[in-house]
Amino acid sequence: MKIVSFGTRPDEAPYLTEWSERTGIELKQITATLNEDNVDQAAGYDGITCMQTVPYSAALFQKNGRFRHQVSVHPQCCLDNIDMAGAKAAGVRISNVPAYSPEAIAEFAVTMTMHLIRNMGQVEQHLRENDYNGAMHYIGRNVGDCTVGVIGTGRIGRAAIQIFEGFGAKVLGYDPYPAKNTDIDYVDLDTLLRESDIIDLHVPGLPSNTHMIDAAAFDKMKDRVIIVNTARGNLIDTQALLDNLRSGKVAGAGIDTFEYEEQDLLNLEQHGSFNDPVWDEMMQMPNVVLSPHIAYYTETAVRNMVEFSLANLMGFLEKGAAENEVTK
Ligand code: NAD
Repeated sequence: MKIVSFGTRPDEAPYLTEWSERTGIELKQITATLNEDNVDQAAGYDGITCMQTVPYSAALFQKNGRFRHQVSVHPQCCLDNIDMAGAKAAGVRISNVPAYSPEAIAEFAVTMTMHLIRNMGQVEQHLRENDYNGAMHYIGRNVGDCTVGVIGTGRIGRAAIQIFEGFGAKVLGYDPYPAKNTDIDYVDLDTLLRESDIIDLHVPGLPSNTHMIDAAAFDKMKDRVIIVNTARGNLIDTQALLDNLRSGKVAGAGIDTFEYEEQDLLNLEQHGSFNDPVWDEMMQMPNVVLSPHIAYYTETAVRNMVEFSLANLMGFLEKGAAENEVTK
């Protein structure tokens, strides 16, 4: 058995090597992402594991199909970049990794919350300006005395709830499909928006969820609310957020998933920063924490991505079925 990994990142490489040594299965690592021009390098291999954020075309699968490969892609998120009909026509089966460490994302959301609720941005700004005394005047709030509203109580939302409850916070949940067998205190969305001191988003970026947090939603929120989005950029109307940050209604915002990240994401490697005045203004605000879609990024998550992707691939190759086969 021989596997080839395309689009191998330096952070994944040690886990791929470790897997290969542990299983005794030969695994070639290629840093270039899989495409029609380099798929020939997979000749003689039984399966491909590759990263997910680049396009996978029907033409690629047609070429790939000649080698009778099965493909396991990682990590999770939408599969819009994969021509599934093309894969099917070429007899290539695809799997993905739908979850690799919900706790990693939940912990990041809580990290952002902690940073904001203790005004660390303002404190650091004063210290950078050599104003030690000024830095002492930002009174924080105890998370344990806050009401935290978690919107979306799937894998990540539930992990976040567990952590917030550990602080002693009162946690409210909203989800059109409430989790079974939990003691989450479910309320309707308006109640959550009205009663929460901290609002934490963990819902998918479905078109129907676009701008679920808009100007009207901000109007319903408490003064001095803190809002954290590590889910998808389209959930928050960023202009409305900016207006509410400027007015002081929103005391702090943690944004790991920025509304306009996708159209700029691929260009980012070329020009190195967003060309976006909204991003630039928020970057200047000490009560905003921005990060480049890295909430998932821990050693555990990267190891799991590699391991789960390879487990899917081995499922195809050894048992004819992968736990996370994608069929549409
Ligand atoms: P999940 O499918 O386990 O849970 C999502 C939950 O959201 C479901 O229970 C669903 O019923 C609920 N939901 C859908 N629409 C809703 C709405 N309008 N209001 C309230 N709830 C709604 O998904 P998950 O694994 O917990 O992932 C949650 C989000 O995290 C996804 O958007 C995912 O893309 C994002 N994510 C971000 C990162 C990152 O690094 N920032 C990494 C992985 C996942």
